[in-house]
Order: sequence, then C-alpha cells, then structure tokens
Amino acid sequence: MGENVLERMARIDADKKIADFMAKEKMPYDFKRKYAAIRAREFMEECERRGLDYHVSVGGLDSIVLFLFLHSIGICPPGISVSYLEDQSIQRIHTALGIEKLQSAVREVKPDGTVIRWAKPQIIQEFGFPVLSKEIAAKIELLQNPTEKNSTVRHAIITGETGEYGGYQTDSRMRLSQVWLDKFGGADAEGAALGYKAAPFKVSSKCCYYLKEKPCDDWAKEHNSVPYLGLMASEGGRRAKSLRVNGCNYFGETVIRSAPFAIFNRQDLLTLALEMDEWYSVHWHQFSDRKIKTIVPAIYGVIKREPDGMLRTTKAQRTGCSMCGFGIHMEKRPHRFDMKREENPKEWEWLMYRLVKDPETGEEYGWGRVLDYVGVGWENNPDTACVGQFEIEGM
Ligand code: SF4
Repeated sequence: MGENVLERMARIDADKKIADFMAKEKMPYDFKRKYAAIRAREFMEECERRGLDYHVSVGGLDSIVLFLFLHSIGICPPGISVSYLEDQSIQRIHTALGIEKLQSAVREVKPDGTVIRWAKPQIIQEFGFPVLSKEIAAKIELLQNPTEKNSTVRHAIITGETGEYGGYQTDSRMRLSQVWLDKFGGADAEGAALGYKAAPFKVSSKCCYYLKEKPCDDWAKEHNSVPYLGLMASEGGRRAKSLRVNGCNYFGETVIRSAPFAIFNRQDLLTLALEMDEWYSVHWHQFSDRKIKTIVPAIYGVIKREPDGMLRTTKAQRTGCSMCGFGIHMEKRPHRFDMKREENPKEWEWLMYRLVKDPETGEEYGWGRVLDYVGVGWENNPDTACVGQFEIEGM
C-alpha cells in the first residue's frame, strides 16, 4: 500500500517544519529581507545546476515588488503576466517594467488558422461561476460533475471520510463546511440523500485555470522555466500551509517554485515596496525607455504610515480580477458589485441579469442569482442595506 497523507506528513516532519517557519515569520524586517535574498539566490543556483530557466509571475503589487527586488540583488529573470485581467493602472506598471503580456488559453483553432481564446463570460457559461473561494468552487464543481473516477473525492467532500490515500480520516478538511454543504451538497447523489440542496447554477474554478494558470504554465513549459512567486504565508488561504511545510524554495516532482517572500507580512511587503520605489527611480532604464513616477499602481493609492505606525495603502489593500466572485461572501457593502453599479450601470445590469443562458430553458441570468443563493445582498441600495455578509467563522 502506498504512503498516505498522514504518513507523508510524519515522514517529512511537517509539524517541525511549520514551527520553524512560523518562528521566522516573527523575525524583524531586516532579517526577512536578507533571508529572502539568500533563498532567491539559492533557487537561481539550483535552477542553473538543473539546466532550468526562471521567471517571475507578475500580477499586483506583491509580485511587482518581487520582480524589482530580484533585479535589485542582481537576479534578472523575465516577468510574465496575463496583464489584461488586471486594473489599468497595474497594466501601465507592467508595460513600464517590460513584463511580457500573455493572453488567455486557446479555446479552439479554426480550420483557417484563426485562434479563438477563452473569455470570462464563455467560461462561466460553459463551466460555472467562480464564487466563494477557489478551493470551495473546485469542490462544488466535482459534486456537480460526478464520475466514477471522482467518487472517492466526492464522498470525502460530503462526509470528510478520506479512504485509503487520505489515511482513513473521518473528519478531514476535505469536507465542505456545513453552510455550503446545505446549499450545494445535493448536486451529488449521496449529498441529496442526506437532504442537502443543489444550486440552480454551475460553480467552477476553471476561470482561473483558463485565464491565468494555463497561459503561465504553457509559457513556462515552452521556455523550460520555473517561477518565482510573490506568495506570503501570512495572507492565509489554501497556500499558507504548503508554504509553511515546503518552505520558500520547493523542488518537487511536478512543481518547482520559489516564494522568497513566504515569511513576509503585509508590513514587510509595504516597507520593501517603498525601498523598491526608490531603487526604481535610479535604475528605471534597466526596464524600458519610459520612466514612471512610482511603481505603486494607482489603484492602491499611495503607501502611507498611519498614526499607529503601520504602513497602509490609501485605496485598495489588495486587487484581483474585476467581477470575480471569490471572497464576495466576506465583503462588506458596498461590495465590488455595488461599485460596478456606480461605475457602469449598463455593464452591471448585464452582469447581474444576463451574463449566461440556462442551456435547457434559454432563460438569461447572471451574478444576481448566484449572490441571492449564497446570501449576499446586491439588488437593494447598499446605503440602506445591512452591512456585512456572513461571519468568517465556519466558512
Ligand atoms: S481570479 Fe476570478 S475572475 Fe480572475 S481568473 Fe480567477 S476566477 Fe477568473
């Protein structure tokens, strides 16, 4: 019998690795900055030994800072990005830094050679809405698309029982939280038998796959290259644990990556962003012939020190693709869909009511149906709506 998840964790001494990592997360900024430089160099040297190239996968502020930081210490990989998904102010920084701009994955090639690429509305129509979180959406997607092959995973999502590979756990993290099981579990026969409901729309994490992951993976394969990523364990999410277990540099069988900022927190990142802004103002000609005033995209505002001594961005704290449903259940109103209404009422109307068509009835619907189902207000005026959506607990 092969090694199961729990045995693997014991073999690699995961608990100790997590404790060591968390101790480093508590170290002062100067330590972390030096540590990031050492890890980044080690990664580069190991790649060179293995005959691999390396690049930076660039999106928002975190990875822009990483790209500049690497250059500032003499590591000069190319940057790639599916830039058009980002805010315009971020795209402008990408252009000034000479980041290579990728397009979404190819959907089909016509007989005359015309290439058709995936667009967000088509992906949502075909596979489903990206809502709640990537991890939860992927689980619901499995429940909504049952096959013989995914039956063990579906059973684990419904019950938490993991079977042989998962070490026969009975209450594993694979189980969807109760609130989502109640609403989505009924797509699966076992879930339906337990009385769970099924949603009147499809849910999927394929949007990220076709718009972001596949284009970057394809580029990486073509260029025999592995990425530096701007991930930080302190940001939480599904990657936090794997960063803490696997550390900054990971050379696995199928995944190779470096996350030099893994032990950083938001303050460290913003401190380094200010340093990189200064560094850029002297070294800008390394990147393109156009100098920009600051490497902090306008959507974040500016980085300012607050009276409590903490650094904050004056506008967005984080950015993401526009009109994505990930995290929407935890956002206060006015939320991103309210903002869209303000900014472009016509587009909002289309997004909320007419984005997709029910393949059976031909009925048009949009994010409105999805938000209603997950309990997020959207149709009423946010000024009079009660603020806050779900409590984070239990999500
Ligand atoms: S973040 Fe959201 S909108 Fe952007 S690619 Fe991923 S699922 Fe799609």
